[in-house]
Amino acid sequence: MTKPNIRWFDDWYVVDEIAPGLYGIGEPKYYQINWNYLIVGDERALVFDTGPGVRDITPVVQSLTDRPVTALLSHLHFDHTGNFHRFADTALADLPILRDSMRDGLFHAPEEMFLGARDGVSWTPMAIGQWWSIGQRVDLGGKELEIVATPGHSPESISLFDREQGILLAADFLYLGNLYGQIPGASLPDYLAAAEALDSLLPDDALILGAHGKPLPDGTHVAPRLARRDLEDLMTGLNAIRDGELPPLSQNPDRYRINDRIALLAGPASYDMWR
Ligand SMILES: [Zn+2]
Repeated sequence: MTKPNIRWFDDWYVVDEIAPGLYGIGEPKYYQINWNYLIVGDERALVFDTGPGVRDITPVVQSLTDRPVTALLSHLHFDHTGNFHRFADTALADLPILRDSMRDGLFHAPEEMFLGARDGVSWTPMAIGQWWSIGQRVDLGGKELEIVATPGHSPESISLFDREQGILLAADFLYLGNLYGQIPGASLPDYLAAAEALDSLLPDDALILGAHGKPLPDGTHVAPRLARRDLEDLMTGLNAIRDGELPPLSQNPDRYRINDRIALLAGPASYDMWR
């Protein structure tokens, strides 16, 4: 892998130019080290997740593209949705559980899907410009992204797949550190089914980018890069958990080793349909 091309935008945001027209926008000083992604096509641009909203992200996006930008959420958790209302054009996955949250023309994230109360943040109601169905290909001009359903971490979670480049933006489905399968709405059976679907979708040399990072040993922050091997380890781990063959490293929540850089957390409700 070539050396990451990273720079600080200001004292909050880091920009990682991953590939031509693909930027990771990281927030290393936020306690969850969130990574949002900007994909720039010839005609339009798409920002996938908008951070916790501690700092306005739109100046970073505007510094990287002059194309019209649509903001799309991977899921509703507060640490990914904070600046969503700052974008003139917004999109959500066209899922019944999301459509159900429209009232009087505005989208209101239900607290059980937003989880902002635990951090003292509240949802800003907003209009939704576009509803993109699962499997839809979003054409940015010379760049096409597919909407892929990846429930498990949460029921409404989606990923974005660039088939031509073999790049998956996996958001909270797969990243470095502890995967949250223990929170309300998480499901290990869903996690396994989605991992199996990705397994048939992704090429062998796929690059998978996650939404939470860890600093490198030298303290540098780069967009979290994962590989197909990590997805395979997740599948192996989930199968073993289902079959009762992988004891947790610790309990409350149950913490399972996936590989040397990924673990999976699970709570009592996460196992539904398996137990
Ligand atoms: Zn999340």
